[in-house]
Amino acid sequence: MSEWVLEYAGFDPVHEGLREALCTLGNGYFATRGAAPESRADGVHYPGTYVAGCWNRLRDDVAGQAVDNESMVNLPNWLPVTIAVDGGDWLDLEQVEVLTQRQELDLRRGLLTRWLRFRDGQGRLTSLTQRRFVHMQHAHLAGLETAVVAENWSGQLRIRTGIDGTVQNAGVDRYRKLASDHLLPITQGPTGPDTMVLTVETNQSRIRIATGVRTQLRCEGEPREVRRRVHIEPGLIEEEIAVAVTAGHEVTLEKVVALHTGRDWAVSEPAEAVVSALERAESFEELLDGHTLAWAQLWERFHTSLEQDHQSGQEASLTVRLYLFHLLQTLSMHTLEADAGVPARGLHGEAYRGHIFWDELFVLPVMTLRAPGLTRALLSYRYRRLPAARAAALACGLSGALYPWQSGSDGREVSQLIHLNPLSGRWLPDVSRLQRHAGLAVAFTTWHYFEATGDLGFLQDEGAEMILDIARYWAALATYDPDLDRYVIRGVMGPDEFHTGYPGAEDTGVDNNAYTNVMAVWVLRRALDVLEALPVRRRVELTESLGLRRSEVKVWQEMVHKMFVPFHLGVISQFEGYEDLEELDWESYRQRYGNIQRLDRILEAEGRSVNGYQASKQPDVLMLFYLLSADELRDVFSDLGYALEPEAIPATIEYYLSRTSHGSTLSALVHAWVLARAHRDQSLEYFKLLLESDVADVQGGTTPEGIHLAAMAGSVDLLQRCFTGLETRGGVLRFNPQWPERLGTFTCRLRFRQHDIIVRISSSRLRVSAVSGDVPEIQVCCVDQWRTLRQGESVEFELQPG
Ligand code: BGC
Repeated sequence: MSEWVLEYAGFDPVHEGLREALCTLGNGYFATRGAAPESRADGVHYPGTYVAGCWNRLRDDVAGQAVDNESMVNLPNWLPVTIAVDGGDWLDLEQVEVLTQRQELDLRRGLLTRWLRFRDGQGRLTSLTQRRFVHMQHAHLAGLETAVVAENWSGQLRIRTGIDGTVQNAGVDRYRKLASDHLLPITQGPTGPDTMVLTVETNQSRIRIATGVRTQLRCEGEPREVRRRVHIEPGLIEEEIAVAVTAGHEVTLEKVVALHTGRDWAVSEPAEAVVSALERAESFEELLDGHTLAWAQLWERFHTSLEQDHQSGQEASLTVRLYLFHLLQTLSMHTLEADAGVPARGLHGEAYRGHIFWDELFVLPVMTLRAPGLTRALLSYRYRRLPAARAAALACGLSGALYPWQSGSDGREVSQLIHLNPLSGRWLPDVSRLQRHAGLAVAFTTWHYFEATGDLGFLQDEGAEMILDIARYWAALATYDPDLDRYVIRGVMGPDEFHTGYPGAEDTGVDNNAYTNVMAVWVLRRALDVLEALPVRRRVELTESLGLRRSEVKVWQEMVHKMFVPFHLGVISQFEGYEDLEELDWESYRQRYGNIQRLDRILEAEGRSVNGYQASKQPDVLMLFYLLSADELRDVFSDLGYALEPEAIPATIEYYLSRTSHGSTLSALVHAWVLARAHRDQSLEYFKLLLESDVADVQGGTTPEGIHLAAMAGSVDLLQRCFTGLETRGGVLRFNPQWPERLGTFTCRLRFRQHDIIVRISSSRLRVSAVSGDVPEIQVCCVDQWRTLRQGESVEFELQPG
């Protein structure tokens, strides 16, 4: 095991889905799970291929209710390759004696290699080595090479390879009873002596998808022309090759794959584009060289290393790298043209149907500090859906923009209306769309992108409009309560998904969720800043075209002083009335159930409701401490006329920490973050838990259905921003380090205001170097020491350990 290689030995059916998810290869345009090439979806294996932004909607009738679900579509499987030994059956690992099965994911090169050696019933020994990549430079290409050695036999080797478009979306058990056939076969057939193309179309969104393969055979390294028997069915094309082999000799099948959809740019028709891509494509080996180079460049730009001496430290380094690897495979330069958002579960599986939540909040900081153009493109996904968000607000009788809790193709709300509790088997109403705070995250990430980059062009073209309309929605939703002489926001859900309403009430949300109210104020403050930051001409244009009245802005100015925030016992209340809910006997539930992450499901199965308890799935109030610096919080609260006493923050953290079931991987991230300053050891425990999120599948079987992208990005962000105290406020690179000695030395490369910067930190020293960039000097501030950083120079700060 090195810090660059994820290795699995043997075959473990129980964990095969997890391996497939973690061995997914992708390039931001598309990704394919690490399923064995000869496998089909059979309950153990699940080959899946997903293109960013390729959605389709299906309708079901559930208990007399019409339910629409939009899903990221599982596209034709390009992997199929299998072999048969001299007159025998097609390879079935259950029917042969497997002597070796090993798999390595080389993170440096984005290359998945599998070694298989088996003996069949007649004592014939065969070994097989398969290598594959999804090309990081050529977004539409992939490759799979299969090398077979007949170790102790001579005879005929048959190879079958193809493209399977008869696949469904069947990767998540809970959705099994719902419609899952998204693809209509269009055409399939050979397009040349060694190429074949399959075209399908999504049955609602009418997206054409063409997958083509070019297969070439070599014997002992020499190209060999062979006869191919082609087999065609609607949605399926396969070819069978038979070749004479001699003991000890190697036969190699090289499968080069091209994939295009009707959504691609610079394309006339997908099948045609696939044919030309295959014509132009180099050999597997040459493609691999280009792919390796693209990864080398990417790793340089995203250089991150954690140097620790101890074994657990090395494992942590590998995990951080693995998580960054999956982040880069989900969001890359190819995402720029995809009109895609940040998918909560990567392009790695079908959980949450591939939807886009508020998770960009946790993911974009890693991108903004290295590939700001990518953050900008991801924010543009939101900008293009601003009309839909305005329509959603209007449908509630409000002005401004209401972004959906879950977003897909066109920006409408795609959250489900009912969900299945697997513990009780009951379908239950799902009101998670009351998490209106998703728009607050859009405004937050937009402003932070502007702060980190100074990209006034983006603010003028897209950012300002989003922030202003989001602020406007919150101002419209808030109502004035004369008794309190404050503004209140009723009937919403905070980030803690357990609390959908008050006990006994119909699910209509809760009142004055502190996170929502404070972040609404934060956004209103930024909206006022935006109006200041815009050049006069653009400000006038925007206020005219948005019809933004002076009186509205006056209300915003009032709201930032008069929004209500609930408190009890010296802590910020999650929402009004939270303190009246029952206390849960956490110990007894832990004893009875062991894992109580999904306490909501447990209680529902017991005939109770989690709404009745002071129990959270994940941080809600604590999100405020995660997102806002202590200074920012103090400003917001003092302008609101609330004294946020110094002891209120630790007291609030402690209060909720003991009432959280950690039913989301986001929980460990936020807790590690908010505990970092005052409770280092506890924070590191949560960091450890965060690192386990996907490698150890801590949410009990959810990773096989897709990675948790925010947790993955968050583990990098904890190192780069939290423990270093890095901020990019006001055009200054600021550090306020609390670097834990146990984490050794951390180095990362960042991009800040056109500067290429290397940060190296340990518990005793921080060095910041400006590698290149013919740009003006910048100011670096560590706690209260200021230094000027010029191109090619470094500045150093001594740190006080502990
Ligand atoms: C969490 C949400 C999150 C979603 C997607 C849910 O389990 O509660 O906060 O956005 O997963 O990651």
